[in-house]
Amino acid sequence: MTEVLNVGAHALARVAQLLRDGALVAFGTETVYGLGGDATNAASIAAIFQAKGRPRFNPLIAHYPAAEEAFRHVQTNDRAVLVAQRFWPGPLTLVLPRRPECPVALLASAGLETLAVRVPGHPVALELLRLAATPIAAPSANRSGAVSPTTARHVLDGLSGRIAAVLDSGPCGVGVESTVLDLTGPHPVLLRPGGVAVEDLEALIGPLQRGLPPAEPGEGLRSPGLLASHYAPALPVRLNAVSVEADEALLAFGPALPGARCQFQLSAAGETTEAASRLFEGLRWLDAEGARVRARRIAVMPVPETGLGLAIADRLHRAAAPRG
Ligand code: AMP
Ligand code: MG
Repeated sequence: MTEVLNVGAHALARVAQLLRDGALVAFGTETVYGLGGDATNAASIAAIFQAKGRPRFNPLIAHYPAAEEAFRHVQTNDRAVLVAQRFWPGPLTLVLPRRPECPVALLASAGLETLAVRVPGHPVALELLRLAATPIAAPSANRSGAVSPTTARHVLDGLSGRIAAVLDSGPCGVGVESTVLDLTGPHPVLLRPGGVAVEDLEALIGPLQRGLPPAEPGEGLRSPGLLASHYAPALPVRLNAVSVEADEALLAFGPALPGARCQFQLSAAGETTEAASRLFEGLRWLDAEGARVRARRIAVMPVPETGLGLAIADRLHRAAAPRG
């Protein structure tokens, strides 16, 4: 059962506690209703993908009550400080490099080195973020493919029974998503138009490139496919392994195959949600540890394509795809 809570001191404290306990709660912002979960809790992030029924892991926006708190988790620069001063709290999301000590789950970044951060311009959302005292990942609170919800009723239409609670703060004011601005490279890049007008951003920081950022300074624009590939380990990846060769590292799912040079267990119990929460961590760990023990390849045990298994398979197929 999904609880519906009307805004009030009691409701806010309760929702903050639910979030800290790892539960999912939808809440209103000035853009649309967000499906919130503790961004530092990988299991909560996996549960968000599960509740939305997303066929892929795309990176989520982490929400903070103030710029100083967001900037403790991402590396900032002059432009970021300038636009944050002018447009936060508000419908603007900044993509910046994760700091090495960033506690936000890698799954929220979909394995990227960057993190999208925002301080929403809604008093209730801000108060909730303050009380939760942890960044909240919150994609739009709808099933994948459905339109973004701007009332608590819309949220329930799609997610009733799939989330712990909805905090009803009335209809959203802006009703469109946040503008997403990538400030990781030498030129600011508009990744998604939204609630903050491009003209207003350009008046402050100059012309924005449209589309995806260059993979490396000096390189052309990234293709959407490349951005979607996000993280591929340096070691080659072999899928659906039913045995392990002596020079392989193993990404295990369920009882591990014997004989690997090193191994990372996604889920001993064979649960796809647990596996999703550990996927990017596992690929990174195997990449580093595999190189250290001179493994030549990462063998991946089969993961069933049920629940989040489909999104896991999507990401593993990209990791295994030929590079060039
Ligand atoms: P939503 O969660 O539906 O509001 O969408 C979040 C938007 O931010 C999507 O367009 C994502 O692709 C984009 N986004 C989030 N994190 C990143 C990131 N680290 N790099 C690039 N785009 C991002
Ligand atoms: Mg959406």
